[in-house]
Amino acid sequence: TASRIAGISETVFAQMSALAARTGAVNLGQGFPDTDGPASVLRAAGRALVEGHNQYAPGIGIPALREAIAAHQWRHYGIPLDPADQVAVTTGATEGIAAALLALVEPGDEVVVLEPYYDSYVAMIQMAAGVRRPVTLRAPDFRLDVDELRAAVTPRTTLILLNTPHNPTGSVLTRAELSAIAEVALEHDLTVVTDEVYEHLVLDPDSEHVPLCTLPGMAERTLTLSSVGKSWSLTGWKIGWATGPRDLVAALTTAKQWLTYTSGAPLQPAVAVALGEADDFPRMLRTSLRERRDHLVAGLTDLGITTYTPQGTYFALSDVASLGWSDALAFCEALPERAGVVAIPASVFHDDADAGRHLVRWAFCKQTDVLDEALRRLGAAD
Ligand code: PMP
Ligand code: GLN
Repeated sequence: TASRIAGISETVFAQMSALAARTGAVNLGQGFPDTDGPASVLRAAGRALVEGHNQYAPGIGIPALREAIAAHQWRHYGIPLDPADQVAVTTGATEGIAAALLALVEPGDEVVVLEPYYDSYVAMIQMAAGVRRPVTLRAPDFRLDVDELRAAVTPRTTLILLNTPHNPTGSVLTRAELSAIAEVALEHDLTVVTDEVYEHLVLDPDSEHVPLCTLPGMAERTLTLSSVGKSWSLTGWKIGWATGPRDLVAALTTAKQWLTYTSGAPLQPAVAVALGEADDFPRMLRTSLRERRDHLVAGLTDLGITTYTPQGTYFALSDVASLGWSDALAFCEALPERAGVVAIPASVFHDDADAGRHLVRWAFCKQTDVLDEALRRLGAAD
């Protein structure tokens, strides 16, 4: 096999979901909700199937969806986009990440990335023959250390790959942190790819999602990625989008056309319906996720597990050193047997082993009785 995939193992999310299925454990691992998105959107997909939206859609996406994405960016953030050539539909944000990196990274280019990182970043930087330069968000606050960011940039750096709200720490980058990133990008003439799939899942009333491209000078150099999966509870649909300046969207589209060419035709009109319903569903989801977050964090804390309250996303990190464990991976491998629960070792999302060694991620996008059952089992474990 090619060096491109050397050392890339099966994603930890698939491993842990298989472990949950095998052991019958409560799965607080992989990030997917256990209830589906809006019925109106599911019905729209059903109609699209029956009414014959079953052949190839245009490569960059159907006009109705591109228009809905552009309208969404304008309505929420005041970002003006021409749906004709500043919006491209992707097969989930995952394909957006892949196509962006393949299109924008030269072999040997350095890519600055926040760690703990979403695992596809590492795999795709490698497949693009780039070199990752992580900047660590550290417990307990998981804030960006601007000096560390500056130190990570070298003459070989061409790209920053950002994620806010951030998986798995739940950090929502502040305007000040984003300004520092923008300053570095402008100073070193860097392109930024920003993964905003949790844009509507900001749970703290004091935090706000700010798209990097809205900062001065950044619209020209930022490619923004998002997807319907998280905010509309449709993770299996794999419909995402990329927006930004024409040249970056065109570059992404050039790569995308040879990855998938086009994405799920009958789902596209339905995603346009979801975006057209404004913020109704995400608003409801946010309210209920806030309750579930507080419930899980309180429950874990009561069990003596040090847990950090995330500002956004539907993940919370715990430090299992508080339970006497020195290694998050060993903890997560033993947890199904010990307690009948599955979690994700966030240690695997780090280059800095010290920063990540004890961190375990729980997904709280599950129904309250599922969270209660997980807490009950954790409480009963030895
Ligand atoms: N980026 C991050 C940070 C994620 O957590 C995920 C998982 N949803 C993705 C990208 C992939 O999104 P999609 O399912 O739309 O491909
Ligand atoms: N984004 C999801 C998570 O972080 C998982 C997606 C996947 O399985 N690749 O849990």
